[in-house]
Formats: sequence, C-alpha cells, structure tokens
Amino acid sequence: MSLDTIRARIAEAERDAGRPEGSVRLVAVSKKQPNERVAVVLEEGHRCFGENRVQEAAGKWPEFRERFDGIDLHLVGPLQTNKARQVFGLFQAIHSVDRPKLAKTLARLAQEEGHCPELFIQVNTGEEEQKAGILPGDADAFIEECRALDLPVQGLMCIPPVEEEASLHFALLAKIAERNGLSGLSMGMSGDFEKAISFGATHVRVGSAIFGERTG
Ligand SMILES: *Cc1c(COP(=O)(O)O)cnc(C)c1O
Repeated sequence: MSLDTIRARIAEAERDAGRPEGSVRLVAVSKKQPNERVAVVLEEGHRCFGENRVQEAAGKWPEFRERFDGIDLHLVGPLQTNKARQVFGLFQAIHSVDRPKLAKTLARLAQEEGHCPELFIQVNTGEEEQKAGILPGDADAFIEECRALDLPVQGLMCIPPVEEEASLHFALLAKIAERNGLSGLSMGMSGDFEKAISFGATHVRVGSAIFGERTG
C-alpha cells in the first residue's frame, strides 16, 4: 500500500474518532526491509521510522542520515542494557522500556550524555510469558519509579496477543496511561492501527502495510 493511502486511512480514523487531524504519528517500521524500499518512503517525504534491533539500525541509518535531513528514529524492539549507550546516538525515542534495570541504566546514561530519547514503557497487557513488558499490575509502580529517576516518560506501548481481540488491550493500555497522567499511547500495527486510533493511539507502528512483506 502506498504511504499516501496509509496517511489517508490515519486521517480518516482521526476524524471518525473525533480527534484533531495530525494527532497520530506514523512510525514506519522499516525492520528487515530492503534499503530501496526505505529510500522510496524517505523520498516521499516521510521522516519517522521504527526499527526493532539496534544492530540492524546502526548498519543502515547513519547512511540515510547523510542523504536525508530530519530523520526521527524510534526503537520499537527489546533493548539490552549493554546496547543502551548506542541507542543515545541513534534513536530519538525508545518504545520498549520494560524493566527496572534498563530504566536505571537509561537514567545514568541520560546524566552522562545530557539528553535522553523520549521513552515509552512497554506493558505486557496479555501477560504473555514470551513477551517483554511490565505486567499491568506492576505498571503504576514502574511508571512512578521511572519518574523518580527523572526519565522523560512520554507514554505507554503494547503489542496485543495475536489471537486475542486487540481492542481489550488498547483499552487497558489507555486506562493505565490515563490514571498515571501519561498522554502518549504507542499501539496499533498494520492490521489494527485504525482500531488503535479509536482507542486513543498517538503513535501507530506500521510496517508491512507500507513496505510490503519483510525479507530476511
Ligand atoms: C514489526 C513490528 C511492528 C510492525 O508490524 P507490521 O505488522 O508489519 O505493521 C510494530 N511494532 C513492533 C514492536 C514490531 O516489532
């Protein structure tokens, strides 16, 4: 699907939800996509991209940054603490803050570097064992802990279980965000971003619907 089509669908979902135009940010998830496809989307003027692996991002984005201004890169996948420093020079946002040890490492690096990417706390709304994220019951305390560390927490992120109705998870994430006074909601992917927008998503992470099937 073309970038224009996705943009039009986002705008329509904003209107349907009675939300201001432009209130949803499109994070184009370019992981495992050939560079030619990513370059096409950059040439169309899009600047906000998502990657799920630090290594992969480090291999392709410095070159794109030489060719295109204003790239806004978001890490949407798990982050190991030993790769955290690398993230500071590469990403403008992290959507996967999911444990106290990582929060402490980010706080220390933010002190040393004098800046910090925007942060989203990942919540494991489906309480799935194999999935990263703080459990819903621990979310309030963890948000508090991140704030006590002076981390710039922008909002929450979730990846609903594949076999479940995503709406329940979007609603739960929105509720946790609201009671903690957080405005950012990173939720919704290729198959359900319009639904996520109706539940208040501020950031949708759309990959295959823009770029096509992933390779590699
Ligand atoms: C890959 C990925 C996406 C994009 O998924 P699509 O179904 O291709 O839109 C979104 N969020 C995360 C965390 C991902 O890893």
